[in-house]
Amino acid sequence: MASIQLKQVRKTYGKGAKAVDVIHGIDADIADGEFIVMVGPSGCGKSTLLRMVAGLEEISGGEVVIGERVVNELEPKERDIAMVFQNYALYPHMTVYENMAYGLKIQGLPKAEIEARVQRAAGILELQALLDRTPRQLSGGQRQRVAMGRAIVRKPAVFLFDEPLSNLDAKLRVQMRLEIQKLHASLRTTSLYVTHDQVEAMTLGQRMIVMNKGVAEQIGTPAEVYARP
Ligand code: ADP
Ligand code: ADP
Repeated sequence: MASIQLKQVRKTYGKGAKAVDVIHGIDADIADGEFIVMVGPSGCGKSTLLRMVAGLEEISGGEVVIGERVVNELEPKERDIAMVFQNYALYPHMTVYENMAYGLKIQGLPKAEIEARVQRAAGILELQALLDRTPRQLSGGQRQRVAMGRAIVRKPAVFLFDEPLSNLDAKLRVQMRLEIQKLHASLRTTSLYVTHDQVEAMTLGQRMIVMNKGVAEQIGTPAEVYARP
């Protein structure tokens, strides 16, 4: 596990006359083991910020520090991060087991260790009975659980979630929120979760970063955020 520090993080897309500032110097301290939700309307810069934390997007100014390390200076391989996306990004021709095991195989972990990690994740996410299915044979909620399983097995210091529930229907979203809470209660992995859904943000976030037009307007617990006018 690790803390995440954002220090005057900035992002400008384009150059010269076409340059557009989309993130205007964001500061935030996310504690080790905390679950923090970044919430705000479409286009306010949530995804861009998350991608910068993940090291998938160049940082135009400032620093992202994870644990002791400045993310901007790390190779993608060195980043101890797992990301969960809304489109799941599962391999369609692999089974659930293989989808979860794949990244660990690439890392060269021993077979027994891979099997232990996949079985443990499958237990936490109640996927044991589905390990031999392919993604096509799963419901949307089950696919999203596999996507989370694939993140869990890597035992990363940090989880990043980019609107993971926005493709699910309302009933399933509520159910998956509970699962994500359960997951965090058992693993306590530092998590940064992006959504445009205020209810989701309030339910899941121990604290919230309220974004608007590239600025963090408020940072606090849901009670603190909604106590203000
Ligand atoms: P959100 O995730 O909150 O919807 P984004 O981070 O996707 O917001 O986008 C923030 C702003 O940056 C938007 O105005 C968007 O149009 C712009 N933007 C995002 N990606 C790019 C890009 N690759 N090139 C130029 N502008 C971009
Ligand atoms: P290969 O590396 O030969 O392609 P797989 O990736 O299919 O083989 O499986 C690798 C290992 O994972 C094997 O030891 C296999 O027994 C185990 N395995 C595959 N599916 C399951 C499952 N549903 N439950 C438990 N172990 C599995």
